[in-house]
Amino acid sequence: MMNAHAHDNAFPCAGWGVTAVAELEAICRGEGCETAADEALGRHTSMGVGGPTPLMVWPRHPEAVARVLEWCTERGLAWRILGGGTNVLASDAGVAEPVINLTSLIDGADVHPPTALFPAGTPTAQALRASAHAGLAGLVWSTGLPGTIGGAVAGNAGCWGGQMADVVARLEVIDGAGKWQTLEADELAWSYRRLQLPARLGAASVIVAVAVNVRPEDPSKLTGRSFELQHRKRESQPVGARNAGCIFKNPDPEHAAGWLIDQAGCKGIGIGDAQISELHGNFLINRGGATYADVDALITRVKTAVREQSGITLEEEIRRW
Ligand SMILES: Cc1cc2nc3c(=O)[nH]c(=O)nc-3n(C[C@H](O)[C@H](O)[C@H](O)COP(=O)(O)OP(=O)(O)OC[C@H]3O[C@@H](n4cnc5c(N)ncnc54)[C@H](O)[C@@H]3O)c2cc1C
Repeated sequence: MMNAHAHDNAFPCAGWGVTAVAELEAICRGEGCETAADEALGRHTSMGVGGPTPLMVWPRHPEAVARVLEWCTERGLAWRILGGGTNVLASDAGVAEPVINLTSLIDGADVHPPTALFPAGTPTAQALRASAHAGLAGLVWSTGLPGTIGGAVAGNAGCWGGQMADVVARLEVIDGAGKWQTLEADELAWSYRRLQLPARLGAASVIVAVAVNVRPEDPSKLTGRSFELQHRKRESQPVGARNAGCIFKNPDPEHAAGWLIDQAGCKGIGIGDAQISELHGNFLINRGGATYADVDALITRVKTAVREQSGITLEEEIRRW
């Protein structure tokens, strides 16, 4: 199965053994990357759920990403990519593949209108701050969006009437074979919470930098708008609780998933430590010790209740690992 989405799970292939993991770890260390063996994914996802990966790698520069991808591809071995982990629901058993954690890819931002280039691991909030401080509009709609800018692009994140598809000018990508590719906006196929990269890039490509279109704007206007959106987010979403954002896609503009879940009487219901937020029906929160099994069972219960009440089948927005 060669490529569909840059953000899809690892592609099926030969298994990872102890020797291959040790070899990759040595290569990563040689590239100056931090690594951690048997690292629990729950420590790196906002939901706080998920078992171990045999190896987590934090690349400092895109060349290290390229080296890892090339090495894995030559051996037919798969990898997974993690940004801020704010849209991932990882299984209790963990994953078989090493995880490339891009939160370390943060050096080399270059804010020069009409574009601003950010390394993929840059928190989206930091990219917004940096452009707003320079008096540049483009990312204000992303106020309150957690995670990295690479993750936001991979999932075409959107809120307050904006989405990444509307602002991306160019992407720097390491393809499935470990080769550097520059993709212009017209090569990108966007849809609701999806980005499809050209098939020629192969499976599980990694976005290493994102150039967004920016334009001069009065800094006080930008700050004012951002404050307003922050306030609205705090009022309508369980901002302090552990969660992974909206669990379900909105089926259509007339039927927001949160409203459907509310109508089906699911607000506040729980299984184990997993609970549907009282504040927003499309947010599932971890009250402390929720497991993947709890979250999975609760998602199934909500889907069933909504289908029975409205006839609509909800589709998941979160990425399951
Ligand atoms: C409180 C809260 C509020 C949220 N509000 C919103 C909202 O309003 N709108 C919205 O759209 N989302 C929202 N989300 C979901 C999430 O924050 C966004 O989707 C975010 O942009 C994901 O970025 P991330 O770095 O955390 O990605 P991750 O969760 O780390 O990854 C998501 C997917 O993208 C892939 N990926 C990550 N980085 C890369 C990369 N560089 N190259 C290729 N693939 C990559 C991963 O493999 C994974 O499949 C919210 C989440 C929370 C917790």
